Amino acid sequence: MEKLANNLQIKNMLQSCHNSMYSFQIAILIILLSTSNLVLGQAVNNLHGNPLANTISPPASLLSEYVHIPSETGNEKEAADFMIQQCRNRGLSIEQITYKKGSYNFAASLYPLSQHKPNIIFLNHLDVVPAGNPENWQHPPYEGFIEDGKVWGRGSLDMKGPAIIQLFAIERFVQLAKNTDLPYNVTLLCVSGEETGGAKGSALVAENFKNIFSPAVVIGEGGSGIEKMSFLPKGKIFFGISITEKRPIWLRISCELHSAGHASIVGNNYANMHLIKGLYKLGKLRHPINMTNEAKLMFRGTGKIMGGLKGGTIKHINWIIFKPFLNHYVHKNPELESVLCNTLTVSNLGYAEASPNQNAQKATALIDCRLLPGTSPKEMIDFITQKVNDTLLHISIVQEGPEQFTTLPEFFFNKIAKAIHHSFTDAEVVPILFPASNDNSYYRATGCPVYGFNPMIMSPLQIKSIHNNNEYIELNKIDKGIEVLETFLRSVLILPDPTLSSTIMHQQ
Ligand SMILES: [Zn+2]
Repeated sequence: MEKLANNLQIKNMLQSCHNSMYSFQIAILIILLSTSNLVLGQAVNNLHGNPLANTISPPASLLSEYVHIPSETGNEKEAADFMIQQCRNRGLSIEQITYKKGSYNFAASLYPLSQHKPNIIFLNHLDVVPAGNPENWQHPPYEGFIEDGKVWGRGSLDMKGPAIIQLFAIERFVQLAKNTDLPYNVTLLCVSGEETGGAKGSALVAENFKNIFSPAVVIGEGGSGIEKMSFLPKGKIFFGISITEKRPIWLRISCELHSAGHASIVGNNYANMHLIKGLYKLGKLRHPINMTNEAKLMFRGTGKIMGGLKGGTIKHINWIIFKPFLNHYVHKNPELESVLCNTLTVSNLGYAEASPNQNAQKATALIDCRLLPGTSPKEMIDFITQKVNDTLLHISIVQEGPEQFTTLPEFFFNKIAKAIHHSFTDAEVVPILFPASNDNSYYRATGCPVYGFNPMIMSPLQIKSIHNNNEYIELNKIDKGIEVLETFLRSVLILPDPTLSSTIMHQQ
């Protein structure tokens, strides 16, 4: 009887877990979409309000100007010159890290970097993804059009808007820094080439990062607030701060086999067929679920704010009794899979332009892999080699992202969380594993704490607009974002006890 009751209880828990997981998966989807490279369907916005010409704030009008400069990756110079001028006008000290074609990276700080004060660094990128066909845009992508309480255009949200928010938050401390010896420097770090992997941007800046920047913390792209999550009590807002990201690794899988040239007499043993069979095996394989410490932290944080039985289930999702459920459920949900498994996508199959009657002697495919913290590229390649099980298939690395590290929530995480609570009283802040990749990893690799955090609540429609046509940011979100960052800076720059040094504060 007791066993039956237990079984029933587990069944109920699993059922409630199933429902909660569904909501949770939406949260992950929304977070994931916020940096996805996918071009999604056109965002629909038929609202036509009055132009807000008289009520446009200085940050919004500066953003409009900034959006007006097309700075697709590789063409960042004009945007960099513009931002340097803006920072200089506001009394910040400018230091160019590299300043040449395709690689414009500079710092704008309260104090010169040469003073080596422990430094709070706000990271943003100058480049944007291409705008595509302007005809698909409600307003031309590089107009910086302001309408319906929004700044429209390529980069308004990713990431020129957040960069302007960072700049205006820092500006509020310029006078104070002039008159006071603040415990920290604050830097706006603008880099090139983020959208194509950061080789000419953050990879270079991170090289001598500790010596040049004396970093205390880096705050870059990543999580944000999401409203109306069905798993949260009504009115609560889910705020994710990313503490790690997945590591990208791009592979080439190829087969070179000298068989008959004429396609009519080849048989079954030829390069393309080997590749097809190998890829078929890869397409069918299930990646093992890996409940990393980072995922546990994320589930625990989410379970805690959900409360009750559902919350308890999510909190302890790594328990052995939930394993069958996880096995069953995770592989049916790409969003959950992206947090709990390494993933692999055959992203490109080569050369469709060839002559159909000519049997190719070499076949090649490109594979995009995303690795969880703790998995090395070698482990992934060994895993694929073993599953493909064909000595004629050769696997090589095309490009790999830097090794992933995790920032365990510390002093600055708590300060950011408090600042979020101050502006959004109903927010619940959770450390998250970010399933996409961005520049943050370069700085985490230097041993410095790094958080991915965009100080605003994003609607699903707005998230869809990233890397898509009709990208926008709301004017009120710009103001609120500045408020959050200002509160955060105030809480760390203005010491509650002036006898406390910044080093001691770090240990709190
Ligand atoms: Zn971005």
